[in-house]
Amino acid sequence: MSDSGTRPRRVKTTHPGQSVMEGAGVRLRRIIGGPAVDYVDPFLLLDEFKSDDPNDYIAGFPMHPHRGIETVTYMLHGQVQHVDSLGNKGVIGPGDLQWMTSGHGIIHEEMPQRQEGRLWGFQLWVNLPAKLKLSDPRYQEYAAAKIPTVEREGGGEVRVVAGEHAGTRGPVSEIAAQPLYMDVRLPPLTAMSQPIVPGHNAFCYVYRGSGRFGGTAQEPGPELKSPNLAVLDDGDHLNVRSEGEELRFLLAAGKPLNEPVARGGPFVMNTKAEIAQAYQDYRDGNFLKR
Ligand code: MN
Repeated sequence: MSDSGTRPRRVKTTHPGQSVMEGAGVRLRRIIGGPAVDYVDPFLLLDEFKSDDPNDYIAGFPMHPHRGIETVTYMLHGQVQHVDSLGNKGVIGPGDLQWMTSGHGIIHEEMPQRQEGRLWGFQLWVNLPAKLKLSDPRYQEYAAAKIPTVEREGGGEVRVVAGEHAGTRGPVSEIAAQPLYMDVRLPPLTAMSQPIVPGHNAFCYVYRGSGRFGGTAQEPGPELKSPNLAVLDDGDHLNVRSEGEELRFLLAAGKPLNEPVARGGPFVMNTKAEIAQAYQDYRDGNFLKR
């Protein structure tokens, strides 16, 4: 086991997230975007929805607008039905990914489907730089089979949504944040090392099991048990080692924008005036017009 660089990243802060109600009454865990961890530039929000009880999710997210951001939906179990103002319609199922760039405006509906068993998925919001906040909306959608999975020597796997692991590139491309986004499974007592572009902000979200994050291959960092977010400090790679049980986590990194952030519900712009304009456009029925 060797490091894949010379500057290992360390865990800067951790947080378990908090339970919130969103949409028309969906219970979820807010991991980024709450008071404890407000922003990991360029990541504005990370929500985990996980429940065996349809009452926690069936109200869903009826028609609502977005402007100035990208929403990234990734499912582990269950299905979310999606309809939007561009005429797109589809189902995001287990292992599927939707990377939606709202640009200047999209109106959509995201409705979890009532099914046996568990609904489990994540939505990540990625900020857009000022120069792209009013760009044309765009979708990148990938069924589970189109997301490459790297089988690791000694067990475990890495599903690469965006960025690269062990020479395998994820399918999501041409995103301003130059993101790394992967879903990792490590069996007990295995290790991995992942290069991360220096200067990019990065986090891990441990959603099952436990493992040691950061530090060196010889001296791994603190043990984190699910559910737990670890925001990482700077460096050129990350070392992770699972402990006595299977470890599953998301790893994301992206280029920080270093721009002012003005939030207004589903809109994220640079100034309060731009947020007011978004609300006015939506009220006036001009939201989708250029
Ligand atoms: Mn939405």
